Amino acid sequence: MAAQSNSIAGNDHLITSSDPTHPANHICKLCAHFYTLGWVTGTGGGTSIRKDGLIYLAPSGVQKELIQPTDIFVLEDSATNRQQEETSNGVAKKRTSHKDLPYLRRPTQFSPSACTPLFMAAFRLRGANCCIHTHSQWTVLVTLLLEQDAKKDPSKRADVFEIEHIEQIKGIPNGPGKAGNLGYFDRLRVPVIENTAKEEDLTDTLERAMQMWPDTYAVLVRRHGIYVWGEDVAKAKTICESLDYIFRLAVEMRRLGLDWVDNTTETNK
Ligand code: ZN
Repeated sequence: MAAQSNSIAGNDHLITSSDPTHPANHICKLCAHFYTLGWVTGTGGGTSIRKDGLIYLAPSGVQKELIQPTDIFVLEDSATNRQQEETSNGVAKKRTSHKDLPYLRRPTQFSPSACTPLFMAAFRLRGANCCIHTHSQWTVLVTLLLEQDAKKDPSKRADVFEIEHIEQIKGIPNGPGKAGNLGYFDRLRVPVIENTAKEEDLTDTLERAMQMWPDTYAVLVRRHGIYVWGEDVAKAKTICESLDYIFRLAVEMRRLGLDWVDNTTETNK
């Protein structure tokens, strides 16, 4: 079914623009492109953009290649704070459900995406302005290989993917506040968190992974996919594409019996 237009959502001026880089237009174009890559098939995955104090989100459960600007949800940036309220004694309150956030624009025929709290974590904790979630098969396969490796050899870590001496890791920045990108002789590390029954229940572990790995721009979700973010759309997209290339390469390397890292010469960077 094609996504439908619906003026009941209100505030249509927030998603109406002839500028192709306006977030409402950009999300539609990106989702259609990601669909062709197999990243968001079967309504999974998604993309969110933050710009000029507003957060733009695609709806839940829609065919990503058919999304229209009129289908886009809009939130005020300040709504991200509702996701981390705490009591005075530091005990976390129940997290505000993504369904109860104060949307400025809410297409009534759709539900807000369950990815919303995860996108907002990237905006709030990382200062990102674009977050991409894919269900790419390469991301899933890499997490399965790590899981299998750790079962066979408990000394191996299932909670981080590592690779080195691959040119494409130059597509990944060194970290927030750090100049430049990883170099050919650096080791790329991407943390892995365990999947949950509901997408929104990943939020706490995703946030913990962001805190444990302050330089990472991505978190893999076991048997599920990946969340990738960046300062802007172009950077998030470049990182996501570079990682997907690397994960696909890693799966093929394993098939050929090639190691991802050389543990005979430890690289600490
Ligand atoms: Zn997902």
